[in-house]
Amino acid sequence: MLSQVVELIEKKKAFAITTHVKPDGDGLGSSLGLCWLLKSLGKTADVIVRGEVPPAYHKLPGVDLIRDVEHLNGSYDAVFLIECSDLERPGIRGLNEAFTVNIDHHSTGDPFGTINWIDPTASAVGEMIYNLCKAIGGRITKEIADCVYMALVTDTGSFHYSNTTDRTLKVASELIKAGAKPAEISGAVYNNYPWSRIELMRRVLDTVKRDETGKIAYMRQTLAMRQESDAIDGDNNGFVNIPLAAREVEAVIYMREIGANSYRVSLRSKGDLNVAKIAERFGGGGHRNAAGLQIDGNWDDKEAELVSILQTEIKSRIQ
Ligand code: 5GP
Ligand code: MN
Repeated sequence: MLSQVVELIEKKKAFAITTHVKPDGDGLGSSLGLCWLLKSLGKTADVIVRGEVPPAYHKLPGVDLIRDVEHLNGSYDAVFLIECSDLERPGIRGLNEAFTVNIDHHSTGDPFGTINWIDPTASAVGEMIYNLCKAIGGRITKEIADCVYMALVTDTGSFHYSNTTDRTLKVASELIKAGAKPAEISGAVYNNYPWSRIELMRRVLDTVKRDETGKIAYMRQTLAMRQESDAIDGDNNGFVNIPLAAREVEAVIYMREIGANSYRVSLRSKGDLNVAKIAERFGGGGHRNAAGLQIDGNWDDKEAELVSILQTEIKSRIQ
């Protein structure tokens, strides 16, 4: 919990911070925000992330200090794991021997850390980093503000998902007061894609269909589509939300081929339809309205299975 995190930071000196592979705005924004907070308190902090930082986040302050490592090396008093469902999620070896602090706003997943601070009411881990800063008596610097604002804007879908609360907007307001520039930060994410995104979007949307009730939309992305579009990781960010824009659509299934008979699946829903519960049945997880999983098998069969599960859920909700 928060008090344990505060006590740890007050007592110790040398920290590392990591997040999940293929990091998003919350993972990177919160990691860098925490790094700036620790530095402002006179501590040392290294941000270590496996793999490349996507272009959307290249302008975040401190991004040039992020180290791409395979192994944890260096002697740290503790390693912070930002929104990681388990010790394997960062893709960095050696974490099992470290003192770990699990900071997350996902309620799925085991409390694997030496210290666990989980707040499912937070719109983003960024909101938690802001709360930590306040709890520890830190000042919201321009750097912290930029990084944490990035976390909020990306995880709330620009403040329109159901996780957006009065606290989220209050925090955003404080961050803007501290110097974060909303148009610049959003522009770096939403108006900064390569053309390959548009090519890929055209191909994926060409596959979109609805079930007989019209409430479930589903679409596919093949490996060939990625190749034909010259797509890079992240080009498909947000595609899954596009069919949700239709009034009658209550859920979306977006299946992406990742190998022979193997798919990553994103699920989205509106209202109280809980797709995290469905994802968990397949070993995945997420939030009520946004979840993901991996699945193997025949494409048509697996798609039909997911459609059928969602139909059952929707029907049981109506009665
Ligand atoms: P996306 O569809 O954007 O990949 O993921 C939506 C949400 O579900 C995110 O909050 C993400 O963290 C979570 N999620 C996606 N895939 C998995 C998974 O395989 N396991 C777990 N536990 N969560 C996932
Ligand atoms: Mn998040």
